[in-house]
Amino acid sequence: MELTHKSGRQETAAHDLPPAIELRGISKAFGPVQANKDINFSVAKGTIHGIIGENGAGKSTLMSILYGFYKADAGEVLINGQTTLIPDSQAAISAGIGMVFQHFKLVENFTVLENVILGAEDGAMLRPSLAKARKELTRLAKEYELNVNPDTLVEELSVGHKQRVEILKALYRHADILILDEPTGVLTPAEADHLFRIFDGLKKQGKTIILITHKLREIMDITDTVSVMRRGEMTATVKTSETSPEHLAELMVGRKVLLEVSKTPARPGASVLEVENLRVVDEDKVERLKGVSLQLRAGEILGIAGVAGNGQSELLEVLAGMQTATGSVRLNGQELDLTGAKSDARTRRKKGIAHVPEDRHDEGLILEFSAWENIAFGYEDDPAYNKGMLMDNAALRAETHAKMERFDVRPPHPRLEAKNFSGGNQQKIVLAREIERNPDLLLIGQPTRGVDIGAIEFIHQRIVELRDQGKAILLVSVELDEIMSLSDRIAVMFDGQIMGERRPEETDEKELGLLMAGINRKAN
Ligand code: ADP
Ligand code: MG
Repeated sequence: MELTHKSGRQETAAHDLPPAIELRGISKAFGPVQANKDINFSVAKGTIHGIIGENGAGKSTLMSILYGFYKADAGEVLINGQTTLIPDSQAAISAGIGMVFQHFKLVENFTVLENVILGAEDGAMLRPSLAKARKELTRLAKEYELNVNPDTLVEELSVGHKQRVEILKALYRHADILILDEPTGVLTPAEADHLFRIFDGLKKQGKTIILITHKLREIMDITDTVSVMRRGEMTATVKTSETSPEHLAELMVGRKVLLEVSKTPARPGASVLEVENLRVVDEDKVERLKGVSLQLRAGEILGIAGVAGNGQSELLEVLAGMQTATGSVRLNGQELDLTGAKSDARTRRKKGIAHVPEDRHDEGLILEFSAWENIAFGYEDDPAYNKGMLMDNAALRAETHAKMERFDVRPPHPRLEAKNFSGGNQQKIVLAREIERNPDLLLIGQPTRGVDIGAIEFIHQRIVELRDQGKAILLVSVELDEIMSLSDRIAVMFDGQIMGERRPEETDEKELGLLMAGINRKAN
């Protein structure tokens, strides 16, 4: 009983045992960037400790120091009260630290078992140790609800299962302290729930967990303590039970942030977009869209929910004119040509479709070009920017500056190259370009991926404003929170099809999660 009683346990930890981890005065600079500034931080044994902070706050750098990837410029690390040098990840593993990476480091064409023992055993010992390893793996998998079959090839596993293999790998190496850097970004809600149950099991066994996430709800649900990083500094550490998402957001950003999108009910007007039986077959002859139909009116936001890779990207690409398809798409009653080549994107723009692509790096921006050139990109023929044969660069730069100010792009310098802006500010540049074109239909993919909480607030407000001006908005996002709070209607995609459509007020994350996994309990 004692072990499961949270507060009792923490007191024991605080009084009798040294912290599992203690960092004293850790600093780390990359050239002029001070990524970690004199960080003092301690994690009690047997607790789940969250770390939050905006992009670039220094969270991953700090964890990389702890895992021996980076060498701190100053400061020391104590593990269970002992000063410990961690020059490399082998030393971290010896000290009982395990890290679950955002991008898994598994060998795809090896089995689960082979992956787990890879690197942990001497090559020559591999064969005799396999049976022993299998036994140990089975025991660990059972004890921590990590059910994965040791003999399955990793390439056949879902993302959630691959993550479990990473956790097994760490446990197999006797990790007492597990670090997870943004582990739920790639998971369905059900997979995330399962991961949290695993955390609970680990905690009950006395393991210590450090969880980095940008999802405040996860922090509130699962952690005992939460630390906030801002601009390289550890600015606050609070008991989770004594804080709120609003308070944490304020600590992260340094000002009050509206976490709820404030919007009035939609007043849908005329039909803007009608999609019927859309089919896309990719280069490998795999059918990516299997007969998608949907309708979108002026003045409403249709959110497309789904786990990444279920056809949402193809849907956006077809509508934006970057991908051919069969079926029919009507914009303002006019049939679009779906057989054209890629160059059709420009034609679509002229017809009033704006597009904020999912992958800004690949499609949204040319990183070596300046902000103003990027804003002109795709709209070069616009008479407003043309003087005879030449583009009016001065006019464009002035216009860009005004847009950057309106969208709070920092810094608002039109001549700065796109690559020199942070992710959130790059996103705002793409949004400024697309939204200010006054489109009839805005296609917007993952609008806040990699974007800070303060910028999210801003972007959401702009999307709702556009809706209220009578524009039709097709929103694709893997963030259910975002879908729930912005959409007037929600369509869930699974395996190239729309699994179901719901209104946000008549559904919840659980039902949407089931639809995202391909399960529809309500025929529609
Ligand atoms: P977080 O994980 O909180 O988003 P990071 O620790 O990744 O933040 O980054 C902190 C700061 O250090 C950022 O300004 C980032 O650009 C910089 N940084 C991180 N890693 C490197 C690196 N290898 N080289 C140069 N700068 C880096
Ligand atoms: Mg990071």
